[in-house]
Amino acid sequence: MGIKVCKFGGTSMADGNVILTAAKIVEADSERKYVVVSAPGKRFGGDIKVTDLLYKCSDEADEGNTVAFEETFNKIRNRFTSIEAEVGKALGMKEALDEIEKSILQGAGRDYCASRGEYLAAKIMAAVLGVAFVDATEFVRFNADGTLCEETFDLAAKVLKQYDRAVIPGFYGLGADGKVKTFSRGGGDISGSIVARGVMASLYENWTDVSGFYACDPRIVNSPKCIPELSYHELRELSYMGANVLHSEAIFPVRNAGIPIRICNTFRPTDEGTYIVKMSTRDIRDNVVTGIAGKKDFTAISLEKSMMNSEVGFVGKVLSVIGKRGISFEHLPSGIDTMSLVIDNEYLKNGVLQEVVDEIKTLVHPDKIYVHENIALVATVGHGMAKNVGTSARLFKALSEAGINVIMIDQGSSEMNIIVGVENADCGACISAIYNEFFN
Ligand code: ASP
Repeated sequence: MGIKVCKFGGTSMADGNVILTAAKIVEADSERKYVVVSAPGKRFGGDIKVTDLLYKCSDEADEGNTVAFEETFNKIRNRFTSIEAEVGKALGMKEALDEIEKSILQGAGRDYCASRGEYLAAKIMAAVLGVAFVDATEFVRFNADGTLCEETFDLAAKVLKQYDRAVIPGFYGLGADGKVKTFSRGGGDISGSIVARGVMASLYENWTDVSGFYACDPRIVNSPKCIPELSYHELRELSYMGANVLHSEAIFPVRNAGIPIRICNTFRPTDEGTYIVKMSTRDIRDNVVTGIAGKKDFTAISLEKSMMNSEVGFVGKVLSVIGKRGISFEHLPSGIDTMSLVIDNEYLKNGVLQEVVDEIKTLVHPDKIYVHENIALVATVGHGMAKNVGTSARLFKALSEAGINVIMIDQGSSEMNIIVGVENADCGACISAIYNEFFN
């Protein structure tokens, strides 16, 4: 018998009734032994996620704005006390929230505060299922630089082995300083993956509010096709590029162990969903492209210099300018006497762009340097592309027919993605044109 790990996202924990639906899903399959949960998310458009409320509380407590803090904390109280009423069980929410409020006001810290949504949600789910609550701080460990400790996996195996079934809060663990530390937003998916690896699950089910991974963003193309199966590599490319069904780092813990992930819909549990596996068995004749994703707001700094190709250390010098500022680059397309640095706009705010440009000029004396701001990067991803002649021709023909100007082109060395840079304003049209070419 295999072991399945289920992770329920924020919409699957949003209120007491949905939590009961999620619990039924767990109980419907005896292999579903370990459950990881997010904090209650949005119940309706315009609602606020508990995690966002907690971050707000933390800011208000830091500012010493007790009136605002109380108001926000009361909203959190109401969320959890209504859940308690909806599931119809005494769960001790009032006492737990009193304790949390006290700790926040005593300076327990931002990450501690943000993590309490998951903590309480896991307490609730454990009580509903009648199984053990295991705190994530018992095995999820971070290094001082914020990266995940390797020992996490052995610890997870050791701790979880003691329980036949358990519920674990997602999103956090223990930092090197002995305090609660969170992952980046959406990090509950990483926690689910850690648990799956710890117990060497046969499947990691990620329960969310969509029926799988779509070939592109449904806000851009109406009802795009759902991808039945994709590889870890394809998923990584797509989620990094903005397809946000799963956290882009969630595959790492399960990838080496070859544990498949299934994206499932809590609200349509019989839908097949999407399987994420080591190597997709999809026939590339069905479609050479697996999916398309795009991200806006990049800047390209392009340089031209005659004989750049023979100037040893040129690229190294240019990269040192951004490296010492802690700026990472997204892409580095180059020609014989040209190169461009494509950087997320976030890094270049408040005059940093000008500083970087000036320093590059002084350091490597380019013949020309120009800046193109507000570029969107659109990635077309699929293992099938490597072996299929004519894919890029189709892609660029589709873009030219749609009247889209391509500013930059980059093909990953694995030949499984082609990335184009277009104006931010063209991002949606670019994705639609590529989708229509390969999927319609
Ligand atoms: N609750 C956290 C967030 O909103 C983590 C998660 O849901 O995975 O980002």
